[in-house]
Amino acid sequence: MSEPILKVEGVQAKYGDFIAVESATLDVPQGMIVSVIGANGAGKSTLMDTIAGVHKPTAGKVYFKGEDITGMPAEKLVTRGLSLVPQGSRCFIRMTVEDNLIMGSYPKSARGKLKESLERVYELFPVLKQKRNDLSGSLSGGQRQMVAIGRALMTNPDCVLFDEISLGLAPTIIKDIYARIKEISAGGMTVVLVEQDTQRAIRTAQLCHIMLKGKVVLSGSSKELTDEEIKKAYFGL
Ligand code: ATP
Repeated sequence: MSEPILKVEGVQAKYGDFIAVESATLDVPQGMIVSVIGANGAGKSTLMDTIAGVHKPTAGKVYFKGEDITGMPAEKLVTRGLSLVPQGSRCFIRMTVEDNLIMGSYPKSARGKLKESLERVYELFPVLKQKRNDLSGSLSGGQRQMVAIGRALMTNPDCVLFDEISLGLAPTIIKDIYARIKEISAGGMTVVLVEQDTQRAIRTAQLCHIMLKGKVVLSGSSKELTDEEIKKAYFGL
């Protein structure tokens, strides 16, 4: 297996006194698609936010490309090549599609590649090119999700964390977006996919981590993990 680009060691994250992530340990090997699966409330989003510098950990360590990035703010991590597509396909609805995408290239490290990155996003999602002068507020849910993904790609990342990007979207759109994620990965980018849909996650990822009640309770290659093992870990049976 290739070297981990991302290492999470015993991370704990809280909201006030409430422990949302108790102790999460996982590796994300360079260039792979890795999924983090778990039921509602297992702590997946909190863990992603904590890795990406949106939420501060209360214990543990996060390493990215060998550097200790624990507690580093998101805007710094983006310049180091780590980007998050947060849950909820957020985009600036009063701005055009293209302006939303261009906002992604604000880090110095990405500005030089703005044109190239924009073309790449339009190649992946041709509908965004057609609608590039439209206000993002006029887009469908699936198209907004494409904008959110595109904006993360505009930061010129080495690793992207996708937090439940299929939430609330129609099956055909989900299929299309997942096909694009495979393309992104084939281009060499490391992908972390948070999913509630275990079947989709296992089909897409090479490596899976299963979270239960704030802990990573099972990790393994998608080919080797059995349905029985996954079910037990997912439901805590
Ligand atoms: P889902 O699949 O529903 O998004 P999840 O696995 O991503 O779930 P989190 O959203 O990380 O789980 O939530 C973990 C726990 O933290 C849950 O019990 C949730 O209610 C709680 N939680 C999440 N966000 C907050 C918050 N802002 N304030 C307080 N508690 C929170």
